[in-house]
Amino acid sequence: MEQWILKVALDTPLHTVFDYRWRQASGEAPPEIGQLVMVSFGRRDTMGLIVELATHSELPPDKLKDALELRRQLPPLSRQWLDLCAFAADYYQRPLGEVALPGLPKNLRAIKPTALDKALKALDKTPKPVAVRKTRKKAKAAVLADNASASVAPCAESPEAMAAPVHAAGLAAEAEDSAHAPDSTEHASGSELYFGVAPQLNPAQQDAADAIAEARGFTPLLLYGVTGSGKTEVYLQAAARILLRDLDPASGKLPPAQILILVPEINLTPQLEGNIRARFPNLEVVSLHSGLAEGERTRGWLAAHTGQARIVLGTRLAILASLPHLKLIVIDEEHDPSYKQQEGLRYSARDLAVWRAHQLSIPVVLGSATPSLETWQHAQAGRYRRLELRQRAAAQAVLPKVRVLDMERDKPNDGLTSTLVAAMRKRLERGEQSLLFLNRRGYAPVLACDACGWISNCPRCTAFMVLHKPERRLRCHHCSLELYIPKGCPTCGNIDLQPLGRGTQRVEEGLAAIFPEARVLRIDADSTRLKGSAQSAFDSVHRGEVDILIGTQMVAKGHDFKRLTLVGVLNPDTALFSHDYRASERLFAQLMQVAGRAGRAGPSEEGNPSEVLIQTRYPHHPLYGAVTRHDYDGFAGTLLDERRQAFLPPFMYQALLRAEARELDIALAFLQDAAHCLEHGGITINEPIPMTMTRVANVERAQLLIECESRPALQSFLKDWMQILRQMKTRARWSLEVDPVDI
Ligand code: ADP
Ligand code: ZN
Ligand code: ZN
Repeated sequence: MEQWILKVALDTPLHTVFDYRWRQASGEAPPEIGQLVMVSFGRRDTMGLIVELATHSELPPDKLKDALELRRQLPPLSRQWLDLCAFAADYYQRPLGEVALPGLPKNLRAIKPTALDKALKALDKTPKPVAVRKTRKKAKAAVLADNASASVAPCAESPEAMAAPVHAAGLAAEAEDSAHAPDSTEHASGSELYFGVAPQLNPAQQDAADAIAEARGFTPLLLYGVTGSGKTEVYLQAAARILLRDLDPASGKLPPAQILILVPEINLTPQLEGNIRARFPNLEVVSLHSGLAEGERTRGWLAAHTGQARIVLGTRLAILASLPHLKLIVIDEEHDPSYKQQEGLRYSARDLAVWRAHQLSIPVVLGSATPSLETWQHAQAGRYRRLELRQRAAAQAVLPKVRVLDMERDKPNDGLTSTLVAAMRKRLERGEQSLLFLNRRGYAPVLACDACGWISNCPRCTAFMVLHKPERRLRCHHCSLELYIPKGCPTCGNIDLQPLGRGTQRVEEGLAAIFPEARVLRIDADSTRLKGSAQSAFDSVHRGEVDILIGTQMVAKGHDFKRLTLVGVLNPDTALFSHDYRASERLFAQLMQVAGRAGRAGPSEEGNPSEVLIQTRYPHHPLYGAVTRHDYDGFAGTLLDERRQAFLPPFMYQALLRAEARELDIALAFLQDAAHCLEHGGITINEPIPMTMTRVANVERAQLLIECESRPALQSFLKDWMQILRQMKTRARWSLEVDPVDI
């Protein structure tokens, strides 16, 4: 019997790995790094991850526990994956186990392996998809077929031999055909090898796809393309070429390559997933996001982990998926705030993607019409390669005409100016769709009493309770407290309480009065609470069953609405005067994105151009001027100059220490102590301050901002600082965020 010491990472806040003993019976395989192992910890059994093997432990033998069980049926996680987790743990100052374990599907970590075994079995049985179609469209479609016949033949390959069989002769013939087709000479680079029928790329798209597919080694690329410029098509065709690279025409074996595509929102995955599946009918495509049922999630994760899934489409959490053959990472809409996790391990999926690409020496594509200033600055400095798509892709599609409507001159009724109403009426007459964007859900942000001045403050937060009329509730959007709408003023009894301001529900109500015949649909977090309801709402828009769509930022992103020719923006002004230095960057991106939903399929049949109308009280604000001109470059340049002068990111690196307690003084006192506990040359430690929203759910919150011009210097300070803070006695709960975005 041989004895091992397993160094095990566990999902606990303790910054250490734990020693366990493993007695290897004769004839039994030794434990492996990257294996999951069941251990008893405190009073419970829990799943850990073996991160190191040793022969000796510092623990006295009577303190050393035996590990309970190895999950041998799961192929071990790779060294590279462990390194990724270790990097994230180190960079964000969290224990390794808290990074590595929560990202694994629950079924993998369950005490009983029943669900895991079932998922592994199902994975083995999955028929490898093979082509059944034999269509051929000149150079544009080549079809890969099973090498024996063109019928679907389930074959149970082991995870290692995942290479999907390809009809070698057929493929070669297709390639040959296309090489001789008169209009396909520019495809000699190999882009003719599509799996499904793909549109011919325009020259700018082709250059971008070439640059991605031909990149060797670590190559960060910014795909800067206006809305509707066909970035998705570039990703897919570059992906196809990377998957087919090193294809051995003799055996027809597809080399084991995987592509990871990240999108900001769950509700964007089904549309893209459908497109990808249609494009790659021969390959396994899986989605990874938090909206999946546990079984699906386990299956998808395993398909990625074994290499069986060639394309993984996911939200930010997918950046931590195990992908042994990763060859390309794509971050679509890379500027989107959803790539930042805002609780627990507060990581940036975009930043981890770049690190991962560096680790694996592969290209990473960051796509956006409005890149984050961080990414833009990297591109300006030549660290990222910039690829540009300046025009929309669909035939005759051009960017919409953007106009600013002065609300002082054209006074709104029910929140809508007469110009906007007239423009909507025209769309109704022509059978086209309009979209109204208002980033405020609910009916009204406040309910108030004119008689005594009472307003609907949340009793637990520094915030108003929002009036939700259809639900007949007051709701706090911060602590989720719900109250019935009071019949009269709680202070003076006045029964005539007034809603102040306007949310999506109130606009929806107004629309019903102005356009009684129109089919109006509201899409926001309230209307899409039920699983699947967001999807079915978007489907009905795509099917043309909606005339007027009203929504929050949920509708502003990514969607390719083909019949939409008018976008109205209501009430964007509040962000102009925010304390948050990122507010104008965000507002600008939001407006450019929502404007980008209009006119994507080209002008209407009568040749009418698409329009974006922004209602504002500040028609001359430079931000709106830049949106009107579609001038991202100019606006980004101005913002970067401001940031440079004000010593703000991306010219400065920041970390934020947050503390919360029942009493504000306790939180502030802890931050004061923290600010003075360590020498800090080159690091700026600001004064502790209460957070803007000081109280949430009866907890008082404060923060301390740390800044440094050098990232390594900040990192090394944080490391030492955290060690001291972890020893400090305080009643405050605290957490550190590296590269905070909301401060
Ligand atoms: P983006 O992601 O850049 O906003 P999409 O990828 O959604 O844009 O593309 C916008 C529209 O243009 C889609 O309907 C897409 O099918 C179409 N499209 C993309 N590339 C081409 C092309 N080369 N020829 C014709 N249509 C295209
Ligand atoms: Zn009152
Ligand atoms: Zn509240």
